[in-house]
Amino acid sequence: LLEVQNLHKSYNNVEVLGGVDFTVQRGQVKALLGPSGSGKSTILRMISLLEPCDSGTILLDGEQIGVIGGRVDVRPAPERILARQRTAIGMVFQKFNLFPHLDATRNVMSGLTTVLKVPKKEAREQALEMLDRVGLAARAHAYPSELSGGQQQRVAIARALVMKPKLMLFDEPTSALDPELVREVLDVMEKLASDGMTMVVVTHEMRFARSVASEVALFDSGQIVEQAPPDRFFDAPEHERTRRFLAHMH
Ligand code: ATP
Ligand code: MG
Repeated sequence: LLEVQNLHKSYNNVEVLGGVDFTVQRGQVKALLGPSGSGKSTILRMISLLEPCDSGTILLDGEQIGVIGGRVDVRPAPERILARQRTAIGMVFQKFNLFPHLDATRNVMSGLTTVLKVPKKEAREQALEMLDRVGLAARAHAYPSELSGGQQQRVAIARALVMKPKLMLFDEPTSALDPELVREVLDVMEKLASDGMTMVVVTHEMRFARSVASEVALFDSGQIVEQAPPDRFFDAPEHERTRRFLAHMH
């Protein structure tokens, strides 16, 4: 479903991504691990088309996204094409970024009514359905300030899901949460995975990576050092760098 080929990105002549390749099959969950500053958030921003890459190719469902032209003529696509392509990709951040002046339902509806021009009544119904799916039917009219961090993050997930994305990207979705709230968010993500959603998840939750991911990749200095199914990645890593990273996680 997702194919990233030879992706490069520099900021102020400093290379942050140095030729990243990876593939995510439909229904797979890819966990991305790596030290701070290794480029994990940057690659998600490239895939979600929040920012253009310098070179390389991103294919979603066989369609090259984010750029027009071939490999030689790499230019960012016009905003209206990007806007359409972006709706196929849901993104959830560490900070929930909910609208503080809108209740949970209206937060979830916002993309439907503004981007997809879905009529309000229908958008509301879909939003309520999605809130139910993340276990928040009873809190549908609460404002973000009245919700716990875990509940706010589940609203953020519902807001992404309601757009019916082909792919969901998560950037450390539980890192800003109190430890006792992490589980409820991971449970929602695990359910999503078992329902067949294709996901790329940047995380420090090793147990989640081991039990839910189809494949785990280690990022270091803007490159993928090792990628493998979780059993092999955690129990028999090939690279010394991976062994060192895992040793620090315990
Ligand atoms: P963390 O685990 O701390 O979130 P990360 O792996 O997500 O780290 P990135 O946020 O992708 O790392 O950053 C990779 C490198 O790119 C860092 O050195 C960072 O300082 C740099 N960087 C990221 N965004 C920008 C930007 N907009 N301008 C300049 N440098 C940037
Ligand atoms: Mg990051």
